[in-house]
Parts: sequence; structure tokens; C-alpha cells
Amino acid sequence: MNIIDISLPIHPNMPIYPGNQPTEFNKIVKPSGSQLTAMTFDSHAGTHVDAPAHAGLEGSTEVFPLETFYGLARVIAIENTPLITKKHLLDQDIQAGERILFKTDNSTRGHDIFHDSWTALSSEAAAFLASKKVALVGIDWFGIKQKGAPDNGAHTELLSKQIPILEGITLKNAEPGTYILSAFPVAYLGVDGAQTRAVLIQE
Ligand SMILES: [Zn+2]
Repeated sequence: MNIIDISLPIHPNMPIYPGNQPTEFNKIVKPSGSQLTAMTFDSHAGTHVDAPAHAGLEGSTEVFPLETFYGLARVIAIENTPLITKKHLLDQDIQAGERILFKTDNSTRGHDIFHDSWTALSSEAAAFLASKKVALVGIDWFGIKQKGAPDNGAHTELLSKQIPILEGITLKNAEPGTYILSAFPVAYLGVDGAQTRAVLIQE
């Protein structure tokens, strides 16, 4: 079995979406000598799952059945474009129930800093994926929405259909193809998103 880690590490110097909560770690050493760490970050820091509430809709990450986050997933490479459109998806034979992970130039470029531009998913492409009834959509950047997009369709088209969005993954070590995805969100109650340790498993 080969496990490919597609998660990004969480640490105080991690790149964060502009305006979001900076990540802070503060060590606490108790008189007994035991150590713990107070951690400050928001629900969309690093590799995480978006819940409907993130887009102003009803529901936290608890609305998604756990089965959604484990099972066959397909890595699709769409490169040399700043926007994944419906046109890119028409010949991909997208099937109902598929977990689709988009590998873009974002993965090639890396995630060491928060870049000012990134490859995103168009609202129309999100609506197309929702119409195909996919189980989950993942993208290799901290946000799925195009910078400056006139609407929030990349989120709402999927989240309104209870399709979770897996954001902040890195697919630099994953060739296009089929894997087992494991990406269970942390069980924060009533929150609009949750961190996940996302991996691809090859048997
Ligand atoms: Zn998010």
C-alpha cells in the first residue's frame, strides 16, 4: 500500500487566505511538566472541507455523511489555465458519485506562500459538476473561487447540493488517475469548515 499525503502542514508561517486568522501556536508547560499547545487558526486554514454555512447556506460539516470522505477518487489534471471551465470537463466522463480532485498549476507552483493569483473553478463548471451529482470536489488551492469572481457560484452550486469542497490540497505527488481518498473532517460541531488530513491510497 502506498499513501500519498495531499495535505498541507499547519504551522505559524503557513500561507493563509488574505484577511483570515493568522495561525499561532503557544506552548503551555504545566507545573507537572506536561506540555500542551494553545492553537489559534480559523476553520479554513490549510487542508480543509467547506460546509454549506461557509457560503451562507444551512449546515456545518456534520451534514455530510462520513462515507463521502472515504472511497474512490479521481485526480484530473487541468493545467495551463487560470480557470477550470465547463469546457474542460465535458470530455472527462464525469460520473455520479465520483470524488473529483483537480490537479492544476497550483500544485506545480507549490504552496510555500499565498500567491496573488491561482487556478480556480468557474461557477458554470461547479454547476456542471453538481448536475452530474459528484460526491465531492477537491482543488489544490486554499479557495475554489476565482479571484474577483462576480458571484460565489463555485461554492454555492456545490454546497447547496450538499457536495463538500475539499480545499488546500497539494497534488504535486499524485499523477492523474484513480485512488482511494481518505479525508475525514475533524468533528467540530456547528462550524462552517473543518481541517482534514487528506491522503490518497494506492493499493
Ligand atoms: Zn474553505
